Amino acid sequence: MKKEKNSLNSQINCLKGVGFKYYNLLFSLGIETIRDLLFYFPFRWDNFSNVKKIAQIKPNEKITILGQIVEIKNIRSFYKKLTITEALVKDETGNLKVVWFNQPFLTQNLIKGAKYRLNGKIKYSKNQLILQSPSYEKAKSFQAKNSDFDQLIPIYSITKGLTPKMLRYLIRQALEYIDQLNEYLPKEIIKNQKLISNVEAIKNIHFPQNFEMLKKAKKRLVFDELFIFQLNYQLKKYSFRKNKSPKISKKIPYIKKILKNLPFSLTNDQKIAIWEIINDLEKNSPMNRLLEGDVGSGKTIVATICALNTAQNNYQSVLMAPTEILAKQHFEQVTKLAKKHQSACAILTRSLTKILNSKTGKIEKIKKDQLKKLIKKGGIKIIVGTHSIIQKDVEFKNLALNIIDEQHRFGVMQRSFLTQKSQGNQKSTPHLLSMTATPIPRTLSLTIFGDLDISIINQLPKGRKKIITKIIPPDKRTDAYEFIRNQIEKGRQVFVICPLIEESEVLNTKAAEKEYEKLNKQIFPDLKIGLLHGKLKPKEKEKLMRNFSKNKISILVSTSVVEVGVDVPNASIMMIEGAERFGLSQLHQFRGRVGRGKYQSYCFLFTESPSSKTAQRLKYLEKTQNGFKLAQKDLDLRGPGEFLGHKQSGFSFFAIASLKDINLIKASRQEAQNLVEKDPDLKTCPILKKKMEKFKDVHFE
Ligand code: ADP
Ligand code: MG
Repeated sequence: MKKEKNSLNSQINCLKGVGFKYYNLLFSLGIETIRDLLFYFPFRWDNFSNVKKIAQIKPNEKITILGQIVEIKNIRSFYKKLTITEALVKDETGNLKVVWFNQPFLTQNLIKGAKYRLNGKIKYSKNQLILQSPSYEKAKSFQAKNSDFDQLIPIYSITKGLTPKMLRYLIRQALEYIDQLNEYLPKEIIKNQKLISNVEAIKNIHFPQNFEMLKKAKKRLVFDELFIFQLNYQLKKYSFRKNKSPKISKKIPYIKKILKNLPFSLTNDQKIAIWEIINDLEKNSPMNRLLEGDVGSGKTIVATICALNTAQNNYQSVLMAPTEILAKQHFEQVTKLAKKHQSACAILTRSLTKILNSKTGKIEKIKKDQLKKLIKKGGIKIIVGTHSIIQKDVEFKNLALNIIDEQHRFGVMQRSFLTQKSQGNQKSTPHLLSMTATPIPRTLSLTIFGDLDISIINQLPKGRKKIITKIIPPDKRTDAYEFIRNQIEKGRQVFVICPLIEESEVLNTKAAEKEYEKLNKQIFPDLKIGLLHGKLKPKEKEKLMRNFSKNKISILVSTSVVEVGVDVPNASIMMIEGAERFGLSQLHQFRGRVGRGKYQSYCFLFTESPSSKTAQRLKYLEKTQNGFKLAQKDLDLRGPGEFLGHKQSGFSFFAIASLKDINLIKASRQEAQNLVEKDPDLKTCPILKKKMEKFKDVHFE
C-alpha cells in the first residue's frame, strides 16, 4: 500500500536504484515511465540452469557454461565492417572463445576475472568451437536469488552501462504496479480469441511461470499489437469511406483517341489498371487505390491518362513526386500528352514554376503567385509537383484526384489519410491513387491491409532488354572493372552503390568516401567520378545529379540510402558493393536505375562472402527480372521483419516476428472489422477508445 502515490505513469526515477545515471540510460532506450518499463519486452528467454562443462560441448548445441572471463577485447573488422567483442572464458575443464558482434560496450559491462553464466549456441569455425552472441549473467547474481535458477530468464536488448541484472531488478519493481493496468480489450474479444488478461500477459512476458504461460503471454501481446494496428486502420478507413467525392465520368472516346495517338501501345496490365481506376472515379465515394508496378512498367502514363480524363470532366488533378527531379520528369511526360489532348497543366515545386501554354504548345516560366491564382481559379487542370508545396499553401478550385508517386512502402495507406486531412476544408474528398515500384507481396498486403484496392502492372512494355545480372566474386573483380572501363569508353555511365552499414548514415558516408577514393585514385584515376551521400545539401545533390544526367560525370558513387531517382538513359551499369547485405527487393530497385535507354545494361553484384546461402539468394536476381517474384522470395527467405523494416511498418520487433502467423492476423483483422461495424465510435469500450486516440495522428511512417 505504501506505493499508492505512484502510478503507471510515474517517472522511473521513483523506483529504487534509479538515479541520474540510470534515468538517462533508460531514457535512451525510450523508457520514461513505469508503464514504459513494463512494455519493454524481452526478445528471448534463456534457461541458464542446464550448465555444461567446456570439455563436453559440441557444435550447434545451445548450452550454458559457467566460467571465468580470462580476457576480453574489441576488434574492428574492416572486412566485414563491424566490431567484434572477443573473450576467452575458462572453467576447470578447458577454455572457450566467445564472440559478440557490434556491442562494443560489452567490454565495459563484462568484468575480466569475474565468473559468468553464458548461454548461447556453439558454432564451429576455423577449426575451433566458438560460443556466439551468448546472453550472460554474473554467476553471483544467481547465488543471491536461487529461485531464478530454474526459470526462463528474460533477455532484453540493453545498452552500455545497463546490465541485464539491473534491468530485471527494475522490471520486478515495476511489476508491483501491474494491477493498475486496465483491460482495454472488450470481453467478447478476449473470450472469442481465448486470450489471457493483459496483466497476466505482462507478468509472464517478463518472468514466465513456464513455457506454456510464455506462449500465452506472447499470443496475447502480439494479438494486441496487431489488433490496435488493424483497428486504427479500419477506423480511418471507415471515416474515409463516409466522405463524398466528385463523380468523374469515363470519357471513353476521348481516352481511345489518346491511346491511338501514343507512339506505342499500352500493355494489357496498363489498360486494366486504367480501367480499374476510371471505374473507381465514377463513384461518389473516394477511391483509395494503390498502383504497383516495377520501375519502367509505365505507371506515369496510366496516371496521366486518368488525370486527363478528370480534366475532361473539368476537375483538377495533382501528381506528386518525392523529389524535384522526378517531378520534372513527370511534367515532361504529362505535357507531351496534355499538349496533344488540350489540357492545361503546370509544375510547381520550391524552385520551379512553369506552365504549358495551350495556345503555342510551349512550356513557359510563370511567377509563383500568378500560378497559384490560376490554380485557385481552376485554370490549370493538372498540377505536377512535390509533396511539401502541394500540401502547404496551394488552394484549388475543385481538386478531384490526388496521385502520389513512389510512396515508401507501408506509408502508402496511411499517407492517404494525411492527404485527406490537408484537404479538409473542402466539401469533397479527392480520390487518391498511390503509385509504388516496391512490390508488396500479395500475401503480405492481404494479411495486413486485407481489402486495400490494388492494381498491378506485372509486365514491362515490349522490347525492353533484360538487364544482364552477374554475381562477381572477389577474384573476378579486375575483369569487371575492365568491362566497366570498356563501357565508359563507349560513352556509357555507371552507378555504384556502397554497402549498407547498419542504420548509420555517418558510417555509410564513410564507406562511400572510401569507395570513392579507391575508384578515383586506384582504379579509374583518369575518369570523372562523383560522390553522392546523405550529408550533402539538397542543392549539391541536385547539381551532382544534373551533371550525371548530362554525362559530365562517368561514375556516380552513392550510399544506399540516397534516393537517386533520376532517369539517366545513358547509364548502363549498376554495380553494387556488399550485395549480400541487401534484400532482393532492394537490389532489384537499384537495378532498375539502369536499362532505361536503348543500350544493353548490366548489374554487377559484388560480394566478398560468396558463401553458399548468400550466393543462392543472389542467384534469384540473376535469374529473374520480375519484382513481384523477387519480393515474394525475399519474404520467404528473410521473413517479414527484414522485408518491412520496423520503422516503416509501425510494428514492433515483437509483432513482426509474428507476421507470418496468418491466423492471428486474420483473427485480429476480423475482430477489428466487427467492432468498427458494430460500434464505430467505440462507445462500448471507453478504455480502448482512449488508447486509440493516441493513434489519431500516428500514420505508421
Ligand atoms: P515507372 O512505372 O517506373 O514510373 P514510367 O511511367 O516512367 O515508368 O515509364 C518509363 C518509360 O516507358 C517512359 O518513357 C514511358 O513513356 C514508357 N512507356 C510507358 N508505357 C509504355 C508502353 N506500353 N510501351 C512502351 N513504352 C512505354
Ligand atoms: Mg515512376
